[in-house]
Amino acid sequence: MKPRPSFPARMGSTTPAPSNQKPAAVHSNVPQGVGMDSSTVRQRMVQKLAGQGLQDPLVLQAMATIERHRFVDTALANQAYEDTSLPIGLGQTISKPGVVARMVELLRNGAPGKLGRILEIGTGCGYQAAVLSQIATEVYSIERLRGLHDKARDNLRHLRLAQLHLLFGDGMLGFPKGAPYAGIIAAAGGEAVPKDWIDQLAEGGRLVAPVAMPSSTRGGPVAQALIVLDKTPQGIRQTVLEAVHFVPLKSGLA
Ligand code: SAH
Repeated sequence: MKPRPSFPARMGSTTPAPSNQKPAAVHSNVPQGVGMDSSTVRQRMVQKLAGQGLQDPLVLQAMATIERHRFVDTALANQAYEDTSLPIGLGQTISKPGVVARMVELLRNGAPGKLGRILEIGTGCGYQAAVLSQIATEVYSIERLRGLHDKARDNLRHLRLAQLHLLFGDGMLGFPKGAPYAGIIAAAGGEAVPKDWIDQLAEGGRLVAPVAMPSSTRGGPVAQALIVLDKTPQGIRQTVLEAVHFVPLKSGLA
């Protein structure tokens, strides 16, 4: 694969405000107080991800390209490149960059080029959908909360991603019209992987999702693990990976 420069030249740059002046109020969603251009901060984040073992060049490039600070509230923008989850409204959170990168790397599974059609369950603020749009030829992303579906549309407008389709619906049912998918990725964790998702996965396709573990204590916090499910000609192969903490997968619309 031909390496490409990690930062597109047209990356929006921001001039740090002089320390004796208040930052201009019109500067929307730009990391303030970080004291440097957002692409530099992002590159540092990517270096950290690589240091943590993330290797897939396409994923590293996607993480360097998508401006995470544009997907969170202005008041949180200065934390956008820290490896932390952040609230996005309606009780939901944007995942840590490290978790997004890890899951997308698992989804790609070292494929030589871009993946084909992908389904994301849980659009949230749209950040991961934007990252997925860099590593797949077509992305369907579904969200059950109208408020977040609308927010994601606003957040993503500047990227003009023709290959990204935002859907308002119950992702528990998948999205049969787009099936079969080369990959399915869930940003919310349920008791089990819904059968519809497995049905909608192409043979040779891979699903990455947080799922509750049977060891979860009754009444206590639900223990979740990341699982990878491969649909092979011989059947389904499931691998249970590390513990994770995702918002719950819920049915119905709101
Ligand atoms: N990928 C998102 C993470 C959002 S958090 C981002 O980058 O911001 C997970 C999201 O899953 C929440 O917005 C929640 O509303 C959504 N969700 C939970 N159950 C769902 C379902 N059945 N269908 C669609 N979305 C669901």
